[in-house]
Amino acid sequence: MSEKYFQPEIETMSREEIEKLQSERLVKQVKHVYENVAYYRQKMDDAGVKPEDIKGIEDLHKLPFIEKDELRDQYPFGFLGVPQSEVVRIQSTSGTTGRRVVAFYTQDDIHVWEECCARALVAAGGSKEDVVHVCYGYGLFTGGPGLNGGSHLLGSMTLPMSSGNTERQLQFMQDLGSTILCCTPSYAAALGEAIVKRGINDKLKLKAGIFGAEPWTEEMRADIEKTLGIKAHDIYGLTEISGPGVSFECSEQNGMHIQEDHFIAEIINPKTGEQLPEGEVGELVFTCITKKAFPLLRYRTRDLCRLTKEKCACGRTHIRMSKVMGRSDDMMVVKGVNVWPSQIEQVLFTLGYQANYLIVVDRENNKDSIELNVEKTPEMAADPAYDAAKATSQIVAGLKNMLGIKVEVNVVEPETIQRSEGKAKRVIDKRNLYTMM
Ligand SMILES: [Zn+2]
Repeated sequence: MSEKYFQPEIETMSREEIEKLQSERLVKQVKHVYENVAYYRQKMDDAGVKPEDIKGIEDLHKLPFIEKDELRDQYPFGFLGVPQSEVVRIQSTSGTTGRRVVAFYTQDDIHVWEECCARALVAAGGSKEDVVHVCYGYGLFTGGPGLNGGSHLLGSMTLPMSSGNTERQLQFMQDLGSTILCCTPSYAAALGEAIVKRGINDKLKLKAGIFGAEPWTEEMRADIEKTLGIKAHDIYGLTEISGPGVSFECSEQNGMHIQEDHFIAEIINPKTGEQLPEGEVGELVFTCITKKAFPLLRYRTRDLCRLTKEKCACGRTHIRMSKVMGRSDDMMVVKGVNVWPSQIEQVLFTLGYQANYLIVVDRENNKDSIELNVEKTPEMAADPAYDAAKATSQIVAGLKNMLGIKVEVNVVEPETIQRSEGKAKRVIDKRNLYTMM
């Protein structure tokens, strides 16, 4: 029989107990960071805040924020909070060195992360009787290793499939009786399509899915649930904070519970940095209160959402976040990969193009596509030796190297992409992922 919670004593503790625990852990964590992360110590000194000033979560607002650019600037060791000999693992965000963040983990940090993922699996109905089919990517990406570790901790038979090779996925799914599928929602949809095409639905034992790493809509959820005959659960996380499992959906499928014994969540006004009251939409900020190797305080995620402490019918008391409703920067998630227009621009500049381009992102049959239209420079247009096919494949290769995904590229004549007055429109995202605002 499956249990309702992985750690009932933590997942159902009263609000007062949660906040007391958070306060105790925060005080210790601030001291740890101040003593071990020189960069953040300087930030606190500059802000005139001492560790003694932080007596509980009510003082959280006094601490300076950490932004993604700072993680980049401090690459690789600037935020390391323990001696390197204590580190047992790194993971990394997608993107090139310019945007890459390397996160460090002690053995305990790994345990924290896996615990989070085990809770998510149990919330999706998982137990040691289950067969957990993980087709998130493995390697530096946190998706595979996170759910894999959570599944181990739970004691489920774990299939470390990684992404791709749909034939093999379906074969193992049938032969080994996979019951819980973990992957990006778009890959779940693709698998669903392949399953319907082969008519093998009856041969599968799938009952639930845990899908994250990219935004998805309720329509997509309904679609996946119908095609695969499962209950589809959302999961949220980011490498900077640990990986998937920072929050997860329970059986109610009505917001994701944030694991408040490990992370404190705040919602702020992205323009002023002020904390917003419960229920308002703003930028999500996380403070890690148990992780030691990469102990970020008040990290700005740039994800916009709202929080609620309202009672959940599942019995869990941890605060819930809505689906991400948008971004406070221009990052897009395409095919599960974080993409900034500036990265694309960088590739174009390296190859001698100018900033006359338009990116079109779309989603058809639950599959993302990304297309780049870029103008030749007048010099290229005048050069008889300019080889359009060769130029296109160069850009495709450069983008693949930078982003890790295939971009459809069209090189067009100068001055054919519409100019806009004021801020140039570089991106058209037709997916309408953030319609809930
Ligand atoms: Zn719940």
